[in-house]
Amino acid sequence: MNNKELQRLTESISENLFNKKFKHKAYFNNRLRTTGGRYLLKSHNIEVNNKQFETYGTKAVIDIIKHELCHYHLHLEGKGYQHRDKDFKELSRITGAPRYCSAITNYEDRVKHVYQCNHCGTEFKRIRKVNTQKMVCGVCSGKLIEIC
Ligand SMILES: [Zn+2]
Ligand SMILES: [Zn+2]
Repeated sequence: MNNKELQRLTESISENLFNKKFKHKAYFNNRLRTTGGRYLLKSHNIEVNNKQFETYGTKAVIDIIKHELCHYHLHLEGKGYQHRDKDFKELSRITGAPRYCSAITNYEDRVKHVYQCNHCGTEFKRIRKVNTQKMVCGVCSGKLIEIC
């Protein structure tokens, strides 16, 4: 599967399963380590870990896309788009998306928590969970969101 096919697959899952258009970009990122994919708060693009595809095939990519599309649509609609939110739990149940983006970690990375600043989009990786009520973005002091 190449980026073009991934884009088409994402658009068709979005239309068929969510009844909504996917208007941004979906592409492989071979630098992803800790998650199968991620939704980028700032650009609204979806990145997919291509090792996940190489190891587990198309089925795994479909699961990742479903999960990321839950973040995507809820975020754009101003609803609860984080894993712990009611809206997120509900949408992932309805669409059959996995609640978490499973990581392939044969080369177990110690990073467990990935945060994005909801203002500038900078990514922060932490081994331990941080208190996002207190911790802010080191670049712009924006709010940190745990999301993948
Ligand atoms: Zn920031
Ligand atoms: Zn996620």
